Formats: sequence, structure tokens, C-alpha cells
Amino acid sequence: MALNVEAGSWTGASFPVENFQAYTSPFGFRTSPTGGRGYEFHSGLDIAAPEGSYIRSWWGGSVVEVINDQGCGVGLVIESGDWEHIYCHLSGQVQTIQGRPTLIDRQGGLQVSEGQTIPSAARIGRVGMSGRTTGPHLHWGLRYGDRWVDPALVLRAMHRDR
Ligand SMILES: [Zn+2]
Repeated sequence: MALNVEAGSWTGASFPVENFQAYTSPFGFRTSPTGGRGYEFHSGLDIAAPEGSYIRSWWGGSVVEVINDQGCGVGLVIESGDWEHIYCHLSGQVQTIQGRPTLIDRQGGLQVSEGQTIPSAARIGRVGMSGRTTGPHLHWGLRYGDRWVDPALVLRAMHRDR
């Protein structure tokens, strides 16, 4: 899959969250939302949804990383060709199962391991409050090669192709 914005090329893509409420923070430079000084680069798009709303894989691919850190919190990185899609601030915990980092969200009935293959639009997690966040939302990042891409551009192209 190339960075192709021709008509018809995005019909396999899924909007990444159920129960959409609002876009709460765009991609690009911004002042820190948690009180830090100066500007920071926001590498994704923040999409507010009620806590517990299901997150859906934007595209089919394989899970290359299950994240568990202070910034992203519980998160996933899925690789689809030259693209990577990143999901942060999920519900649940990360545990190692049979040597593989695994997102476990019992309430949501989900278990996602590194190396797992994911179809487009599959439920992969739920909106939570893990990591550095002031309210329940999905932080959704898109990388093409080693460049961050503004997810709003991709959503616009998806909408046009619908
Ligand atoms: Zn964000």
C-alpha cells in the first residue's frame, strides 16, 4: 500500500473508534495539554469517545508492538505494508504470555499479542485513561515509512472514497 490519495484507494480502511464524540486535539505543534512549558509535537490525532468504547483497526496488518509506558500508556502498533498505525491510552493491562507481550482487556473480552494478525475493522482495544491523558480518548498516530502523517488527511480521503 503506497501513500496514494487517488480516489478508491481507501475503501479498505476503517474509522478507528466506535461512539465518536469529537476531535479534541489535532496533529502538529501545540502547547502542552498537561501544563508543560512551550510547544510540543503532537504526532497523532486525539479522538474523544466514552471510556470503554471499542477501538477498531484502521487497516489489516500485524501487531508489531504492545506498548506499556508513561506517555502512551497501554497501546498497540500495527504494521500494514509501509504504514504503521498507533493506538494509545487503552483500557486493560499488558502481560507477557508465552513470551509475547499481550494486551489483556477482560471486561472488553479482548486479548491481543505481538505478532498477531489483525483484519481491517477488527476490535483491538477499548478507550481508556492509561498514560498521559486528561480524559478518555484515542490517540491515533499514522506513520508512513519513518514519517508521521496527519491522520485527518487520511480520514478526509477515506470519507471521499465512501
Ligand atoms: Zn494525542
